[in-house]
Amino acid sequence: MTPMTSVAIFDRDGTIIDVVRDEETGFVGVAFHPRQLRLLKDAVAGMRRFQEAGFKIAMATNQPAPAKGQFSRAAVEATNRALVELLAEQGVRVEHVAVCMHHPDGGEGGDPSLVGPCACRKPKPGLVTDTLAALGADAAASWMIGDSPGDVTAGRAAGVKAALVFDTKRCELCPLRGGAPGTPDASGPTLLAIANAVLGPSQP
Ligand SMILES: [Mg+2]
Ligand SMILES: [Zn+2]
Repeated sequence: MTPMTSVAIFDRDGTIIDVVRDEETGFVGVAFHPRQLRLLKDAVAGMRRFQEAGFKIAMATNQPAPAKGQFSRAAVEATNRALVELLAEQGVRVEHVAVCMHHPDGGEGGDPSLVGPCACRKPKPGLVTDTLAALGADAAASWMIGDSPGDVTAGRAAGVKAALVFDTKRCELCPLRGGAPGTPDASGPTLLAIANAVLGPSQP
């Protein structure tokens, strides 16, 4: 019997990297330039544990800004590429990046080809199912890990297990979370805490 291929699929914003806050206006947005990348505490350690346990590592992220006219598709792609490089420097090999740049309503100056309903924007399962297919991974052995209920819902709908990063001390994220957290299969304040919950504590 062939062993199952498992993938740990991580959301980007609020999961691997921090959101971007404008100190003056209090506006909370997402990174759109490599210099805005701030890895969250213990994110790399948690991803590395999944990798060492035999999981392939992937990222699945909603980035509707090009549809809303906020910043370009190229900015999203450059930022994602820089993040994959940053993680590689720290020993985490991201094997697949799935991005939804659509938005149902769009916004002024948005790319019209990205506006409208799609099958990939989380909480829809498209990014997760695409990742499973691209990596030949088994849903039953795989996880979707994110910081919002949409990540949990998307994972569930794709048949993978779902974990929620939720640090109660970071309530500036609450507006982004927008809803009850659902019932993830695991949760914790950092990716390392989630890795420990899913894989068992690391050996001393
Ligand atoms: Mg997020
Ligand atoms: Zn989409």
